[in-house]
Amino acid sequence: MSRTKPTYRSTRSSNTNENISFESAIMKGLAKDGGLFIPSYIPTISQEQLDKWSKLSFNDLAFEIMSLYISEDDIPSESLKEIIKRSYSTFRSDEVTPLAKNVEKNIHVLELFHGPTYAFKDVALQFVGNLFEYFLNKHNTANPDNVKQLTIVGATSGDTGSAAIYGLRGKENIKVFILYPNGRISKIQEEQMTTIQDKNVQTLSVTGTFDNCQNIVKEIFGDAEFNEKYNLGAVNSINWARILAQITYYFYSYFKISNEQKDAKVKFVVPSGNFGDILAGFFAAKMGMPVEKLVIATNENDILDRFLKSENGEYASSNDVKATLSPAMDILISSNFERLLWFLAYEQLSDKDADKAGSILNNWFKELKTNGKFEAGSSVVKAASTLFDSESVQDLEILQTIGKVYENSENPTKYIIDPHTAVGMKATYNQLEKDGKDAGFQYICLSTAHPAKFADAVNKSLEAFNDYSFEKDVLPEELRKLSSLPKKIKLVSRANLELVKKVIDEEIIAMDQ
Ligand SMILES: *Cc1c(COP(=O)(O)O)cnc(C)c1O
Repeated sequence: MSRTKPTYRSTRSSNTNENISFESAIMKGLAKDGGLFIPSYIPTISQEQLDKWSKLSFNDLAFEIMSLYISEDDIPSESLKEIIKRSYSTFRSDEVTPLAKNVEKNIHVLELFHGPTYAFKDVALQFVGNLFEYFLNKHNTANPDNVKQLTIVGATSGDTGSAAIYGLRGKENIKVFILYPNGRISKIQEEQMTTIQDKNVQTLSVTGTFDNCQNIVKEIFGDAEFNEKYNLGAVNSINWARILAQITYYFYSYFKISNEQKDAKVKFVVPSGNFGDILAGFFAAKMGMPVEKLVIATNENDILDRFLKSENGEYASSNDVKATLSPAMDILISSNFERLLWFLAYEQLSDKDADKAGSILNNWFKELKTNGKFEAGSSVVKAASTLFDSESVQDLEILQTIGKVYENSENPTKYIIDPHTAVGMKATYNQLEKDGKDAGFQYICLSTAHPAKFADAVNKSLEAFNDYSFEKDVLPEELRKLSSLPKKIKLVSRANLELVKKVIDEEIIAMDQ
């Protein structure tokens, strides 16, 4: 049976003829015109399929969802099944993303942190690592005289780097370099990255800030010669495969609720930064998952909250990133939001012309680049509001919420959340208050990190409780052990492009020996 599958287009392209395959979209990451890849249409499912899906395991559900977006030419079914199985075998929970039901009455917590690095990015990056490997092998088997290698270069403020490293360690023909600002990430985050001994992985501890690291990475990608020499690849959240992998847990957790309460009215609350996590919820909703609202929970870096509350859909970057207690959500511009804007702009067009939507987006993002903002218009922000709501949460509220959840949780009792999840829980409380207890909503708050990764905020919130102990109640044995393992640290004394390139050159020679 041959089913047609979407092709992939750039959000900024006004030419459907430029559409490419799933494989190309994954291997390229970002489009040449600066846009992000989106599927040419969103597959929808029938009520009958929905009923069937409700009984599936996480892996089987992932397969059903992904096969709607990936053609047999890109990955044959049997290989896709195998990739999924391998990607989630590294998780500590059989359910991959278990739902803690009724942590408080009608509030459920979707635990996304049971992967190797204890943060939600593993759900996507374990899969992406295997995809890269699969597509490289496919190419190299077909072209034995022209073996392709891939060199991943990235900058991290903590979570992405370790998730990428754990997704790519030991993979054939792939080398990984992750830059991080020396002394500016948490101890556990540094240990997670530097205790990896695989030969194909090297972290670079750079004297400087995260922005310095990120700028160097951008410059490296802009260096045509270096890029050509090493075939550079990116793992940041613009890669479509990351969004695709995240769709599964929306359906999976929705079914956990709807299998018990038919016609349950579900709201998802999602701690958001780059908008990758919640965008997967948008795709799930468009595919046919019944959902009342997707609630964007932001910290004090609130570009998304400001957009949704504006009259004319003003999307405006703020001048400075604020450093908050939820650092993985400290962003100026929310890159994946561009994908949502494309679909919103497209839906507003009476002729539903995808090429026109591309040219609208192209103009908006040109304006953003020159003026730091643009207006998407009131009809776009109105359309967004039918599915999305938003809340912004202050640092003080994060601290209070960690304590409140610890005190109020019923199942399990004394439930401990990390500061990112606390942004989500505070947003959930706000929604509950606005909706009223009688509204009958079920709230699923996404938990994006294990509390052990953010010890300072968690301890600050809970140290007043007599029987609380970080060592006993929070720190998993696996993370405790990290501090005694040997570390592979490469210091880079200045945040300087030429210096970083020289170090990468030298390390690649050493890796190939
Ligand atoms: C990356 C991250 C987020 C934000 O997710 P986006 O997809 O960027 O919106 C939230 N919490 C944690 C712990 C993260 O690592």
